[in-house]
Amino acid sequence: MIINHGVRGSVPSSNANTLKYGGNTSCVELKNDSIQLIFDCGSGFSKVNFSNNIQPILFISHFHHDHIQGLPFNSFQKIKNKKILVTSAHLNKDIVYKNLSKYYSSPYFPVDFIKISNIFEFVDFDEVVSRFSHLKINSIDLNHPGKCSGYSATINNKKFCYLLDNEYYENQKKELINFCNHSDTIIWDGMFLESELRDKKGWGHSSIEQGVRFAKEIDVKNFIISHHSPSRSDEEIDKLQNRFNGTNIKFACENEERDF
Ligand SMILES: [Zn+2]
Ligand SMILES: [Zn+2]
Repeated sequence: MIINHGVRGSVPSSNANTLKYGGNTSCVELKNDSIQLIFDCGSGFSKVNFSNNIQPILFISHFHHDHIQGLPFNSFQKIKNKKILVTSAHLNKDIVYKNLSKYYSSPYFPVDFIKISNIFEFVDFDEVVSRFSHLKINSIDLNHPGKCSGYSATINNKKFCYLLDNEYYENQKKELINFCNHSDTIIWDGMFLESELRDKKGWGHSSIEQGVRFAKEIDVKNFIISHHSPSRSDEEIDKLQNRFNGTNIKFACENEERDF
């Protein structure tokens, strides 16, 4: 099952115009009876449910606020027997620990959350890949200021790809197609419209139109456009979605669950 807990980019956006698609920032969960893969811990992370008999792994794409700001705000119920494995493909486990510890301590946070919570085990990405080799976990470098990792994993013979945040350029196409071809689900960074992107070169995001063009070139069942701009209203997203009804293009909606 895939659960989209947060679909906004940059900053949570909670108002009357975001009730339908949701205002929480990035967090996607992919799970079956034995494993729970969580991609990023934006504010949507507070809604992830843990379970005693399922091993959770948290993959961090990068350390911009909207991808880590929800980490302390989960109740972490039923996690007593296990630790959450935390990893990032482009940084070793000590740096991941250091970055999160810095963000969740004075002067930015009231307590040394990472140290006192004692529920995280920091693991190098290569170790996660080999320890869970049956999941065929892979990563790709994305085009984003300060670096960012995209991920893919296979559960129940279905391939999932998470590609937030990425400023797409044509020279990425070949490598990206190789990475995510024959997927069941791809999550794409559709922060901007093409008209908005012109003024946002270097901010590290793609356009919805680039996503739509890319989706036509690959074999994918569900191409999900997410990381919606905080100012994108339900009405605007509805209009966009209506253009693609009956196709494999979907606009991410918070709390939506899909079979996987
Ligand atoms: Zn982001
Ligand atoms: Zn970012």
